[in-house]
Amino acid sequence: MKIIEEVKGAKTIGISGHIRPDGDCVGSVMGLYLYLKKVLPDVQIDVYLEQPADIFQCIKDIGQIHTESKEDMVYDVFFALDCSTDRLGIAQPLFEKADKKINIDHHISNRGCGDLNIIEPERSSTCELLYELLEMDKIDEEIAKAIYIGIIHDCGVFQYSNTSPRTLQIAAELIKFGFDFSKLIEETFYEKTYVQSQIMGRAILESIRFMNGKCIVSMVDKKTMDFYQVGPKDLDGIINQLRNVKNVECAIFMYEIGPMEYKISMRSRGKVDVAAIAMKFGGGGHVRAAGCTMNGTYHDNINNLSRQIEEQLLSE
Ligand code: AMP
Ligand code: MN
Ligand code: MN
Repeated sequence: MKIIEEVKGAKTIGISGHIRPDGDCVGSVMGLYLYLKKVLPDVQIDVYLEQPADIFQCIKDIGQIHTESKEDMVYDVFFALDCSTDRLGIAQPLFEKADKKINIDHHISNRGCGDLNIIEPERSSTCELLYELLEMDKIDEEIAKAIYIGIIHDCGVFQYSNTSPRTLQIAAELIKFGFDFSKLIEETFYEKTYVQSQIMGRAILESIRFMNGKCIVSMVDKKTMDFYQVGPKDLDGIINQLRNVKNVECAIFMYEIGPMEYKISMRSRGKVDVAAIAMKFGGGGHVRAAGCTMNGTYHDNINNLSRQIEEQLLSE
């Protein structure tokens, strides 16, 4: 299956991804946008997304993103990438009323929300899956770069177990386009601003281990975020540092998004299925990386999550 066959005759196409967009979300949305712009120059193509982090400014046409909805538009085709409809944010109504809805994702928790669903949980990233759906001879350096960014962000620069031989083959094809991949990895994945590394240091310093060191948790509250003048985008990477601690099977990181409301990230070394836990609390993700939003106090949330983790660790 190729995407080009699915958009035949369309005069208007919309594209969106999930709220709080990560590298895979931004990369897949922009990769598809750049591709469709190139192969269908006469079609109106609109991209909707929350403002991406500054590190993604290197992607061509990132300034074309609409951060507000064109409410009266009804698109011939609308793409939801790297998520299901519930996390589309402002684009959700546009997706729902489009004539043809296409959902492309790699989350095991996604049951498919489109008229056409391409959901492949064994893929490292939505970008990897997207690459398979494009015509190879139409990909150029800018499209390749966007897709490469998505892949490296979701597989931790080929470190995580979601990396497959196919992931590496695709990465090899992409770097043939000649962009400076080493610089991209450095500047979009590893580099942190001074305050970003300060708040990461603080989160690590204040982390607490429990269940004999098998679990680790840390939290950043609103007051601390305000003090450092940082937002959610500045907290990327903290959860991975927590998971790196020796003997930790499951890491939890949360930050306050409102009164008694926290965004939760979880990472596992493999023994704990964090997607199953996140789904119990209305979220989702992958076996080793998942997230959700929880209401309640910090301590209530830890109790509720640790009960689920303990159950899984005891039953294995
Ligand atoms: P995060 O910890 O936010 O980086 O999320 C880890 C993984 O779980 C990513 O693949 C996210 O897209 C996914 N994820 C996070 N929150 C949710 C949610 N509420 N529903 C479904 N998937 C989620
Ligand atoms: Mn994502
Ligand atoms: Mn993804």
